[in-house]
Amino acid sequence: MVTGAGVSAASGVPTFRSADGLWSNFRVEELATAEAFSRNPRLVWEWYEWRRNRIAACEPNRAHEVLAAWSRHYPKFTLVTQNVDGLHERAGTRNVVRFHASIWELSCWRSCGASPGRWRDDTTPLPAIPPPCPHCGGLARPGVVWFGEAIDPAVLEESLAALDCDVCLVVGTSAVVYPAAGLADEARRRGAYTIEINPEATDATPRFDLAIAGRAEEVLDEIERALGG
Ligand code: NAD
Ligand code: ZN
Repeated sequence: MVTGAGVSAASGVPTFRSADGLWSNFRVEELATAEAFSRNPRLVWEWYEWRRNRIAACEPNRAHEVLAAWSRHYPKFTLVTQNVDGLHERAGTRNVVRFHASIWELSCWRSCGASPGRWRDDTTPLPAIPPPCPHCGGLARPGVVWFGEAIDPAVLEESLAALDCDVCLVVGTSAVVYPAAGLADEARRRGAYTIEINPEATDATPRFDLAIAGRAEEVLDEIERALGG
């Protein structure tokens, strides 16, 4: 199972490519990169602070609930998510691999050697923007993986292990951000039957064994009811 921002759309979490009010005049590359942060940490933190507050006010939707139920029901279920919002975990999903880490974690911008290297902070609103590293007093950064940054090797390994499966569902992702976008191809190469669920066609749609055009919260609900859940 691979999920992207579309799974959280019905919860009110903006996807990257949705035009969203205040921030719609910024491109993602101006906000979610190390270059952007070194240029203007305050601007980048204001954007993350806005997203953190927005996500804190959101609840998991039917798509998260169905996937949480499957994670309890199927022993070999693994969910690799590109989402950083934590809504899968809040829905009670087991075996979640956070491909791009979490918006609820911070790390030291200078990698000062603080232990642990990243720490959880789900305070909303944060008392100071930008927040300080509690170890060295320098800048803390959002713990998420930015564009141009490598995926944690342990996370990559866990994700690849999950692709040795019978069925790989890919839900709510535009399939343009690599390496995440390559996960379905790798699952197919390993012999899995691959299914895409997305209301819009993506560049990857023709490569799937089955593409279901629909919203995650509706299609997953229908599948769950057909399975008798
Ligand atoms: P994206 O914004 O690029 O694409 C979202 C996809 O979801 C689109 O293809 C769209 O057609 C589809 N979609 C919209 N509504 C849907 C619905 N109700 N059901 C199913 N699909 C729906 O998102 P992505 O592919 O996850 O983008 C990659 C990057 O965006 C990732 O790096 C991720 O970390 C980051 N991101 C995460 C969040 C989050 O945590 N919720 C939000 C925005 C972006
Ligand atoms: Zn530090």
